[in-house]
Amino acid sequence: MLLFNGAFVNEKSVSISYQDRGFHFGDGVYEVFRVYDHQVYEMEAHLQRLEQSAKAIQLSLPYSLKQLDGMVDRLIRFNRLQNGTVYLQVTRGAAPRNHPFPSPQPKPTLLGFTSRLERPLEKLKKGVQAITVPDIRWLRCDIKSLNLLPNTMAKQQAKEQEAEEAIQHRDGIVTECSASNIMMIQNGTLRTHPANHLILPGITRAVALRLAQELNIPVSETAFTLEEMMQADEVFLTGTTVEIMPVTHIDGKPIRDGKTGPQTQLLQQAFEKNLP
Ligand code: PLP
Repeated sequence: MLLFNGAFVNEKSVSISYQDRGFHFGDGVYEVFRVYDHQVYEMEAHLQRLEQSAKAIQLSLPYSLKQLDGMVDRLIRFNRLQNGTVYLQVTRGAAPRNHPFPSPQPKPTLLGFTSRLERPLEKLKKGVQAITVPDIRWLRCDIKSLNLLPNTMAKQQAKEQEAEEAIQHRDGIVTECSASNIMMIQNGTLRTHPANHLILPGITRAVALRLAQELNIPVSETAFTLEEMMQADEVFLTGTTVEIMPVTHIDGKPIRDGKTGPQTQLLQQAFEKNLP
């Protein structure tokens, strides 16, 4: 079952106009919720970010956050989803193709579906490889918009080089990855790019920072360079599906001994303890 404009329908009943602005312009926003044991993890934070993203592009959501919360829950129950994700996207709706926002706003198109997904336990233990790429995105990366072409291109490059992620940088300053945030441990301090317009304020990023504080790991939300990252004690990704994922090699070179670091492991354990 899918969620389509407030109704729960089968795939064949989903019909989206050829004039939908999501299709023409990527004019819309989305969220990916993680489901553990039938429950949404950090639901409130995801809904609030959806609202922020919509507000940033002057899109009025067709339902209240409370209504969306209920719809996401029902979608999970209809699909008997135990572990996986819920994808939810809202576009500005259908209108004759023209760049300015149509006035009055057409009925937004809401689409939601679930996917089964188990935790990547093996990778969480052993860590993954990453590559570095220039960050060629726009200057509002804080908006979770449907415009993901640079992200897909970066991820494709990673795939071609048999790496899990692409770490993006602007003139040597590390921002975030194609679909996750990045953190490093340097002399015992956790460092990550500040949550400004250049990165998505990740929900898992916020969880990791909260856990670091609980574990008395000093936190510094300051940007770091590629060189600093390569010299770091530990590097890891944070994201809804990757959780707290160790990065052991970047551009083929090991980070320290090329193994999952101790602070990363502490954060992973704390993260796991908080799961439903
Ligand atoms: N940065 C980007 C570009 C992303 O696409 C994502 C998630 O998809 C993240 C960071 C991580 O955010 P979250 O922890 O909310 O999944």
